[in-house]
Amino acid sequence: MDTTLTPMSTATPYTRFRTTLDATIERLGLRKEEIAFLSQPQYIHKKELTIKKDDGSSESFLAFRVQFNNARGPFKGGIRFHPEADEEEVKALAALMAIKTALSDIPFGGAKGGVQCDPKSFSRRELQAISRAYVSAFLEELGPYRDCAAPDVNTNPDIMAWMRDEYERRKGVYAPSFITGKPLSYGGIPGRDTATARGGFYVLQELVNHDALNPSELRVVIQGFGNAGAHMAQFLHREGYNVVAVSDSQGGIYSPDGIDPFRIQKYKKQTGSVTGEYCKGSVCDIEKMKLDHVERVSNEELLELPCDVLIPAALDNVITAENARHIQAKYILELANGPVSPEADAILDAKGAVVIPDVLANAGGVVVSYFEWAQGRSGRQWIPQQVKDHLRRIMLEAFTAVRHEARRSNISYRRAAFTVGVERILETMRARGWV
Ligand code: NAD
Repeated sequence: MDTTLTPMSTATPYTRFRTTLDATIERLGLRKEEIAFLSQPQYIHKKELTIKKDDGSSESFLAFRVQFNNARGPFKGGIRFHPEADEEEVKALAALMAIKTALSDIPFGGAKGGVQCDPKSFSRRELQAISRAYVSAFLEELGPYRDCAAPDVNTNPDIMAWMRDEYERRKGVYAPSFITGKPLSYGGIPGRDTATARGGFYVLQELVNHDALNPSELRVVIQGFGNAGAHMAQFLHREGYNVVAVSDSQGGIYSPDGIDPFRIQKYKKQTGSVTGEYCKGSVCDIEKMKLDHVERVSNEELLELPCDVLIPAALDNVITAENARHIQAKYILELANGPVSPEADAILDAKGAVVIPDVLANAGGVVVSYFEWAQGRSGRQWIPQQVKDHLRRIMLEAFTAVRHEARRSNISYRRAAFTVGVERILETMRARGWV
């Protein structure tokens, strides 16, 4: 994954999460002890990791594991390696995971982890040392039935494999369900790489069918061309949607006639950028661009392009009070976590735009992680069709629950998704006698 995922505003991710949570709490009229459980993590673990570097020196990093809520099952959530990973950010992401797993109705709670480091400055051996040090530091906090981690920004299947190996070595056990997002050769599940995009795609398809729209008449703009964005662009293109613009950290390209994401992917692989077919750095082949009806756009311009569906799939907090009025899309599908600020949410709502919130739109990743966890527990390997069928069913059930609540209470999809998630967590906490 990419390291340039940098927030753009001063409000913290956690205060943004609290805006929606507090509105939900108020509407549901919850009791004091219920509010206390829902608005703070159950545990915040903070440790210092020290590794030996290739040159013989030592380096230490702050590492976090925030365990938000485990009423419904083991804590679940990724681990990110990022210089700006801090307690506030990890806490917000852990909280979102708790809502997401409850909304998807999978038997997990919510957690998130982070190591404050710049992974691009380390060798593979050093990265392995950081990964093993993380597991070693949180050995008693993690575990298949306690807290199941996964990849996140800048962590990948290799890192998951080292982490599982460290756990099994230290505990002297066989534990395929210790962590998800593993390589296929070491307990992974087929389709985990495309799961987030696929889940979002199923939700969008359902919305399009429900509103009796024709995919070939829908113009789609996607910000971010990594795991989530690139797979989404490809799914949509295959189904006949008109993907008119895509971008990555270096900018984007726009063609009202539509672009071919497979071709973009080919050039991105060769040149490192989605604009690679036309531009080398800031120098572009204007003639070729004119001939192909392609324009270069900045990431800010991209969000405001004429389109029907806008899919932020890179950064958080990119649609804010400053640009929300200029967003032209009728549908916004949040593949990224937290791309729309609470102020922008209100503006978009007033304009009649439909926002499919992150806790629903990008839940496909954790849903397939659940299949991988279950696969590890049963010892029976899942096949690709099984993954697709079960993912589709779960995503559509979650969407139906959200749509039903939105209609019943006359609230946005985001508030409805939080309501469904919070009510499910509360129901279990009450059943367990916690509140
Ligand atoms: P990734 O690192 O694979 O891709 C990120 C993409 O964003 C890259 O194309 C990068 O170039 C682009 N980018 C970085 N800075 C940018 C900028 N300033 N402007 C525009 N684009 C920029 O990451 P990913 O896994 O695709 O995750 C993207 C988002 O989706 C994140 O918010 C992540 O939390 C969320 N998400 C991902 C998953 C998953 O399974 N991959 C699951 C849930 C949520």
